[in-house]
Amino acid sequence: MSERGNSLDENEKELFQDEVHHISASKIADQFWCEMQLHLKLQLGMEPTPEMIKGSEIHRSLEEELGPIIEVEVTTNEDSIIAYILQMYSKLVMFNELKVTRELPVVGKINGIPCLGVIDQIKIEEDSEGNKLLVITDYKTRKSRRAPTYEQKRRNRIQMQVYWHLLSDLKSGDFNEEMFKDYFDMPNELVPSEELLKQLPEEQIKLLETTPPHELLIKVFEILRNLPEQSLELHAIYLHQEDRSEVCNDRSLYHQESFEVDMEWALGYWKRERKPADCPQNWMCKFCQFTDNCSYFLREYLKDKKKKEKK
Ligand code: SF4
Repeated sequence: MSERGNSLDENEKELFQDEVHHISASKIADQFWCEMQLHLKLQLGMEPTPEMIKGSEIHRSLEEELGPIIEVEVTTNEDSIIAYILQMYSKLVMFNELKVTRELPVVGKINGIPCLGVIDQIKIEEDSEGNKLLVITDYKTRKSRRAPTYEQKRRNRIQMQVYWHLLSDLKSGDFNEEMFKDYFDMPNELVPSEELLKQLPEEQIKLLETTPPHELLIKVFEILRNLPEQSLELHAIYLHQEDRSEVCNDRSLYHQESFEVDMEWALGYWKRERKPADCPQNWMCKFCQFTDNCSYFLREYLKDKKKKEKK
């Protein structure tokens, strides 16, 4: 992966101020597709494409297969923390009951920088020696029936490695309740608003009556610490967007040393130590909506144009 290696100017640093507090597993993974594209997406914003909308519909239906989705609109910081804790708790209780859960929120730190994620699925699977292990699965949707390229698989493997790391730290206690409270700037007392309570199902209202949010958070971390051993295997399932048939089934392994090397590189961008890296493969530009704003593309395009003019 090539880098320009220059430091950022003050304006660019300012642009990153907000973003550095909101790193997610998918943003880190995007760096391994084209970091410049992620950079432009953060600066310019991006409308969801029809493929992205289709992809979230499929994720929604996968989540609904295991139970109803509870959607709430929150307008205060306190309510959003309560909704987050409730979401973690209900997904973990589901895991303990069914041995599988989907859309599990995870939070933690990567090299000291806070990071959020939502794991598509964790499930108990038996390995060849009969050990029951917790396996992380990520569902990806594809417009084409062709298998994904190496670069697409690599991007998605990185995303799952970030999930693996975050979950492992929650399980081991390397990321604990106190860190969670710090990250969310959690007040000493959390009281759900009337607006939030109106949107919650009866059982969650009762739960909050008997177990206030701070106690619920303690329970969340207790469940996390008692999760079964994590498998090193990471499972990506690629589904076709139309009929949800399986296009590719990619199994890879979490590897601590290579993860550390990858994160060292990735976090250099978030720590503002360097400018975004150029595109690793020119063919990716064909599928990119930022060509008009991308200095790398314009440089390459002009080079090509000059070459053609000389002929
Ligand atoms: S045009 Fe190419 S190099 Fe530029 S952001 Fe898009 S994919 Fe990356």
